[in-house]
Amino acid sequence: MQAQLLHAQKMEAIGTLAGGVAHDFNNLLTAIQGYTDLALLKIPEEDPVHADLRYIHRAAVRAGNLVRQLLLFSRRQPMEFTSIDLNATIRDLLKMLTRLIGEDITVETDLEPAPWPVRGDAANVDQVIMNLAVNARDAMPEGGVLTLRTRNVRVEDPPEAAPGRRGRFVALTVADTGLGMDAETLSHVFEPFFTTKEAGRGTGLGLSVVYGIVQEHGGWIDVRSEPGRGTAFTVYFPAAATAAGPEDRPRADLGGLRG
Ligand code: ADP
Repeated sequence: MQAQLLHAQKMEAIGTLAGGVAHDFNNLLTAIQGYTDLALLKIPEEDPVHADLRYIHRAAVRAGNLVRQLLLFSRRQPMEFTSIDLNATIRDLLKMLTRLIGEDITVETDLEPAPWPVRGDAANVDQVIMNLAVNARDAMPEGGVLTLRTRNVRVEDPPEAAPGRRGRFVALTVADTGLGMDAETLSHVFEPFFTTKEAGRGTGLGLSVVYGIVQEHGGWIDVRSEPGRGTAFTVYFPAAATAAGPEDRPRADLGGLRG
């Protein structure tokens, strides 16, 4: 519990700092990207300077991605919660995901036939799925299978990671058949700036962002990983209150029917 509290405080401090820097940085990067684009148009492709400019452009795009993650991480915008069908979200993202993930990886879905709607912020829920899927891709350099799964879950015994959480949740799993993680790596994955990827490829913010979003949704994350076999991240989202099935209605309602 103490560790969780420290983690939350650390995240908040870094988030505030990062948000301020990222905002100003974003403007500078937009200028770099824009002027490099213009210069690329003016310089013939056979000129060696063209290749240099392309390099600058690529670096600026990468830096832009990092800054976007930082902005998301600091999340200055409040969440807008609506009722979300996670299966529909997955179906909507599938095309983009398949493109992002490349040809060597097969994307499979295993969806709950009638998932309970969850209470979520649509853009942030998308972000959770995208970040987990990009990590799954990076863990499968030789190809493999990425599975997106949804399940309705009724929680009676709250898990250690989420004391006091009971009721109806939808579990969203992003599983890969990739490299997996050892216990040491696993213990650090949600820390901001923790990455095992080479410089310039990983920001170490993807899972911190996921963690923050899921916390704000009142959910939690379960990770299973085995080196050499793969990893499964499962995010539990609380079901939306309006989705109560007849079995979840208070007894008084049923009493009325019986009487
Ligand atoms: P980044 O992807 O930029 O490194 P993340 O916070 O998303 O930052 O991930 C942190 C680290 O967690 C990764 O560098 C990697 O070591 C590990 N990781 C995350 N997802 C997976 C996965 N699906 N398989 C194996 N390792 C993973």
